[in-house]
Amino acid sequence: MPILKLNPMPKQFIDPYGRVLSYLRLSVTDRCNFRCYYCMPEEGVNFVDRKQLLSYEELEFLLDVFAEYGVNKVRITGGEPFVRRGLVDFLSRISQLKGLSEIAITSNGSLSFAQIDALADMGIRSINISLDSLDKKRFFEITRRDKFDEVYASIMYMIGKGFEVKLNAVIADGKNTQDILPFIELTKHHPVSVRFLEEMPFNGTGTFEVPTWNHVVIKGHILNHYPTMQRLTSEKSSTSVNYQIPGYQGTFGIIASYSRTFCGTCNRLRLSATGELRTCLYGAPALNLRDLLRSGASRDEVVRELILAVAKKEKDGFEAEAIQAQTPKKSMSFLGG
Ligand code: SAM
Ligand code: SF4
Repeated sequence: MPILKLNPMPKQFIDPYGRVLSYLRLSVTDRCNFRCYYCMPEEGVNFVDRKQLLSYEELEFLLDVFAEYGVNKVRITGGEPFVRRGLVDFLSRISQLKGLSEIAITSNGSLSFAQIDALADMGIRSINISLDSLDKKRFFEITRRDKFDEVYASIMYMIGKGFEVKLNAVIADGKNTQDILPFIELTKHHPVSVRFLEEMPFNGTGTFEVPTWNHVVIKGHILNHYPTMQRLTSEKSSTSVNYQIPGYQGTFGIIASYSRTFCGTCNRLRLSATGELRTCLYGAPALNLRDLLRSGASRDEVVRELILAVAKKEKDGFEAEAIQAQTPKKSMSFLGG
C-alpha cells in the first residue's frame, strides 16, 4: 500500500479574507525629536515610560516568531526610531534572523551620517524619509524643527550610497501643496521615489478635517502640469499608485492613506512600541504582546494568540475605524506609521 505524503501546510498568518500577512511595521519608540503638526501636538506630549516599551530581547523573540510564520519584511518605525538608544546594534542582530528577507526603515532623516554607513554595512538598502517640503521655512512650520539642511543632506548622502530612498510628503491645503511640482522636478535629477500622502486622523489632538487635497485632486494637479506622466506597475500589496515622467530618473506615487483604496490587498501587521498589535492602522489593538510575554506565555501560546488576532482582521480601514469610533485617535508616533 503506497504511503500518501501530504505537504505540510505552510506556516502563515492568513486573515478571513484570504490575505497573507507577511509585512510587519514595528515601532521601537513613541518618542521623537520632531513635532510634525499632523502627528503630534507642539507641546504636552506624554511619552510612555521606558519600562513599558518592549525590550530589544522581547522584540527579537517576537520577530523570530513572526518570521517563522512567513513575515519576511519588517519596517522599523516610530516615533523616530533613531532616538532609541541601541537601535543600530538591534538592527545588526535582526539582520541575521532567518526568514526576514527585508529590513526597511522609516525615519525623519535627522539621523547622523555614521548611522547611515552602519545601515549600509549590514545590508539595509531601503529607507523612507519624511520630507513634506523642499522649502526651509515650510519645513520648519510643518515639523516645528529647524532641521531641513541636515535632513536634505542625509537624503542626498543616502542616494549617493545607493540606498533605495523614498520620500514621504503628507500633502495638505494651506501647508505644502505648492511643493508637489518641485518634488516631481526633484525626480528629474535623482533616482528617488516621492510619495504624496493624504493626511490621516492621527495627530494626537482629537481634531481632524477630511483632506481636501485627496488622491484624486493630487493626481489631477500633477496631470495638469505633466500630461505625459506614465503609470508604472507596482507590487500587488503596494499602497501607492506609482508614476514616472518620461526621461526622469526617479518616480512618484500617490497614497490614498485616508481614502483607503488599497485595503483589499493589505498584507500588513503593526506592532506598537508598547506591544499593541494592530491588524489595521485605523483599528483598535487586537492583542498586547508585551503583556502576554510578561505574563510568562510560551512561544506556542504567543503563536496561538497571533493566529486568533489575525482571524479577526477587518475587511478594510473603514470597518476597523467604525468598530472603535468612540475611542479618541492616538498620535501616529504612538501607533507606528
Ligand atoms: N519619525 C519617522 C518619520 O517621520 O518618518 C517615522 C514615524 S512617522 C509616524 C511614519 C510616517 O507616518 C511618516 O512618513 C509620516 O509622514 C507619516 N505620518 C505621521 N502622521 C501622519 C498623519 N496624520 N497622516 C499621514 N501620514 C502621517
Ligand atoms: Fe516625529 Fe515622524 Fe511624527 Fe514627525 S511624523 S513627529 S518625525 S514621528
